[in-house]
Amino acid sequence: MLKADFHMHTNLCDGKNTPEEMVIAAIDMGLKHMGFSGHFDPENGVHMDIKEYLKEIRRVKEKYKDRIDILVGGEIDCLYPEPEIERELEYVIGSTHSALYNGNVIPVDDTEEKLDNSCNEFFGGDYLKLAKEYYRTEAEIINKLHPDFIGHFDLITRFNDSMHFLDESNPAYLKSALETMEYLVNKDIPFEINCGAYNRGRKADFYPNKRLLKALKEFGGRIIINSDAHEAGKITGEFKKAIETAIDCGFTHTGILIHNEKGSIEWKELALDEL
Ligand SMILES: [Zn+2]
Ligand SMILES: [Zn+2]
Repeated sequence: MLKADFHMHTNLCDGKNTPEEMVIAAIDMGLKHMGFSGHFDPENGVHMDIKEYLKEIRRVKEKYKDRIDILVGGEIDCLYPEPEIERELEYVIGSTHSALYNGNVIPVDDTEEKLDNSCNEFFGGDYLKLAKEYYRTEAEIINKLHPDFIGHFDLITRFNDSMHFLDESNPAYLKSALETMEYLVNKDIPFEINCGAYNRGRKADFYPNKRLLKALKEFGGRIIINSDAHEAGKITGEFKKAIETAIDCGFTHTGILIHNEKGSIEWKELALDEL
């Protein structure tokens, strides 16, 4: 099994458990590597006491260092240009939770109603246009952040299982998604397989979905498998299925982030068929 997980939240942002409870659960599950990825959204979304977060994650990192390698990371929304906080973090997940359109911030994972209202207001109800703007916003991530990997690439489909607003096989939709994907792969940024919506029963697929994962493989992209756990019990949630899916899509390896002997962060690849 994959004994590493780098996307998780605590009660310091929108998760349920304390960082220490998450660490103890991870150790009990046999994890050797874990990374905290609190939300850093300066204007929208979830606010967090950044000083308190850094202090507490560094404290548990030190306290448990003989049992598990803990990384102090963050999930940063690509709407924000080079936040100061990046320098304090050992790794950054570059996530896109909103489309930026003519100066308007349009969240795609808030509520179904808000999504529908925004789509009507800005795009006359045309979800393909909204998706296009979402992926255009996502492509800008590398101009704003220095992400170590891309979080939940197709979050725009967050409500698609219930609302069916997008045909995810529609060539126009795929064009928007794949152009951004190829662009980011060419910048050598790995993509996570995010189990969050799947392990919470919100969606029947991972981010990115299987079709997009196959394309990611064809583009020569790299993957890292993460739970996006918001509670201790979801750490490594659905990893078995994610590994099977990755193999199905042609991947042979997945990445993890580790501290090397000098204390800096390194990307290391593990063979999927040995997990
Ligand atoms: Zn997120
Ligand atoms: Zn997250």
